[in-house]
Amino acid sequence: MMIQAITKYLDTLYPNPRCELNYQKDYELLLAVMLSAQTTDKRVNMVTSILFQKYPTLEDLSHASKEDIIKIIRPIGTYERKAQNVLDIATSLLEEQGGIVPNDRQYLESLNGVGHKTASVVLSNLYGENCVAVDTHVSRVSKRLGLVKKEDDVFQIEKKLTRKFKGYSLGRLHHQLVLFGRYHCKAKNPDCSSCELSCFCLEYQKKKGK
Ligand code: SF4
Repeated sequence: MMIQAITKYLDTLYPNPRCELNYQKDYELLLAVMLSAQTTDKRVNMVTSILFQKYPTLEDLSHASKEDIIKIIRPIGTYERKAQNVLDIATSLLEEQGGIVPNDRQYLESLNGVGHKTASVVLSNLYGENCVAVDTHVSRVSKRLGLVKKEDDVFQIEKKLTRKFKGYSLGRLHHQLVLFGRYHCKAKNPDCSSCELSCFCLEYQKKKGK
């Protein structure tokens, strides 16, 4: 009942959810998701529009100087490490995969800067893998709605969401929860007055009880 109500509401709010990171090529998605750690998609889009235009192929990227990549991606923070990751990922994909982003979680998670969440976003967007990547928005919304426990880590959250939303598209759910968390159920000042999920929401009940 609750799961049905959540998916119905999210379908109404976001009938065509999609990744808000801009990309044209598969490897651009992988790099954009890696770059999005600890920053916003908006900022990533700003820097990748420059980076991917200046270095339009993987070969170009792999031969770029780290200093120049840093100069371009500086606004997104942790730029030293991320610039090195861009170079390492471009080189690895070229040398080991012929420039292809493979449908291979183990391989993707072995790349520098690519963790479980990044691999999930990439595999679900590129290959339709039915998995829910758990980021800060997915985690916050799931906890507020009582879908998971407050103390659950990202792996427990992923496991519980996968079980509870069995039969639904988890990639779609991921995008919807991200959009809901980003624009509606925000970390600060969530828009509870217009939220149709308030009847299920632990956060809302806590606020009301004050
Ligand atoms: S009622 Fe408020 S806190 Fe709860 S899910 Fe809706 S927007 Fe988020």
